Amino acid sequence: MRPFLSHPFDDDKLKEECGVFGVIGVCDAANFVALGMHALQHRGQEAGGIVAYDPEHGFNSARRFGYVRDNFTDPATMSTLPGALAIGHVRYSTAGSKGATAIRDVQPFFGEFAMGGAAIAHNGNLTNAAALRRELIERGSIFQSSSDSECIIHLMARSIQKNIPERMKDALRRVEGAFSVVAMTRTKLIGVRDPLGVRPLVIGRIGEGWALSSETCGLDIIGAEFIREVEPGEMVVIDEKGIESFHPFDRRAARFCIFEHVYFSRPDSILGGRSVYETRRQIGVELAKEAPVDADLVCPVPDSGTPAAIGFSQQSGIPYAMGIIRNQYMGRTFIEPTEQIRNMGVRLKLNVNRALIKGKRVILVDDSVVRGTTSRKIKDMILDAGAAEVHFRIASPPTAWPCFYGVDTPERAKLLAANMSEDEMRDWIGVDSLRFISLDGLYRAVGEAAGRDPKAPRYCDACFSGDYPVAPSDKIDQGFEMKAAQ
Ligand code: SF4
Repeated sequence: MRPFLSHPFDDDKLKEECGVFGVIGVCDAANFVALGMHALQHRGQEAGGIVAYDPEHGFNSARRFGYVRDNFTDPATMSTLPGALAIGHVRYSTAGSKGATAIRDVQPFFGEFAMGGAAIAHNGNLTNAAALRRELIERGSIFQSSSDSECIIHLMARSIQKNIPERMKDALRRVEGAFSVVAMTRTKLIGVRDPLGVRPLVIGRIGEGWALSSETCGLDIIGAEFIREVEPGEMVVIDEKGIESFHPFDRRAARFCIFEHVYFSRPDSILGGRSVYETRRQIGVELAKEAPVDADLVCPVPDSGTPAAIGFSQQSGIPYAMGIIRNQYMGRTFIEPTEQIRNMGVRLKLNVNRALIKGKRVILVDDSVVRGTTSRKIKDMILDAGAAEVHFRIASPPTAWPCFYGVDTPERAKLLAANMSEDEMRDWIGVDSLRFISLDGLYRAVGEAAGRDPKAPRYCDACFSGDYPVAPSDKIDQGFEMKAAQ
């Protein structure tokens, strides 16, 4: 039976997407890649894959459903991936099929070209993939998967350039949307970020070798030194001679995903020179300034609400307490839960610290509200435990628009904030008060002292603002209506 990994009790969160990792110039690179993927597991738990190369055995790959620790630790598997050059990918499907046939969608993808093979791993989502795919199929391409990322391989195959990095540049100039790509040839490790730099990608040094990772926490686990981020719109090509930098795209103002700061990235990672933990704590500080309330305790909804709750407590002077305890082993406890177990819902994952909560006015700090169903259940649990009042404080603005850049979001009709005012949401969830941080407050927390510049915002914040930095052309073709210009 396929292990149950998609966390149905977590289905009220936006789901990030994918993580990518690569290493060159280190013996048994695949082992380092597996460790890096393990550190990036929060970016995708459904499946993972590694491609490795060495001159004697050529390219080898392993692709599996499930966690890295269950698939890429046994010597039998890892011995099939020899070489000093390897890349890996962890996946939560945002494009492509899910289910029993989806192993064909597990990355990295591999293509054999006249000048040698190449493998790619992609984090993000291509917003014109459907149109490109139609065009490529009409011109004779035969797709092996349903993933948007495979378009890149086919576009590379059709390029007339003489080497693989140049073919990648050609291919990536045709795609739109968000992409942080890690790729490899027989001799080179390549990293590319889209012109807006929507998704993260960093460079590390390990001994005489190099590493590329979605986040710095992937470098930490292998003992690599963080060198710098791959810049928005930059391609780095790394081989035994060192690292070369190219800027193959027209320059545009960067629009990094602001939700990486709020929720997706690990709190021990560094983004844009800032500690993710510290940014989240600062969000709590801003939230307490914007939406104070008289109460006895500040409690996080674990784990992602924790740094913001600490910041809220520090700013407000209201004591911080662990009012809700999370069962860390949820994802591995159940194989296809029965209906009876499903009905227990959020209680399987979270439990209230009753002795602490009884009779108290409680501020609950959570990172986001998506459908609102989990917020409602948590409120019920807190009231059942005897809380006198429940106040929700949310560390992101209302999520009113879907993401098309590599995050799994419900359609707009299912987003609570797309259909209700803040007061209506408060009443529907059933709490004494509900407040979200403002977009300006969020920008202040990420270091933009003046808040959001509406004419030139520094981040992608489309899921809050409806201001999409790249038009989602496939979705528009399918009937998606953009926000009217104001
Ligand atoms: S729409 Fe939201 S989640 Fe998606 S890239 Fe933009 S800020 Fe990030």
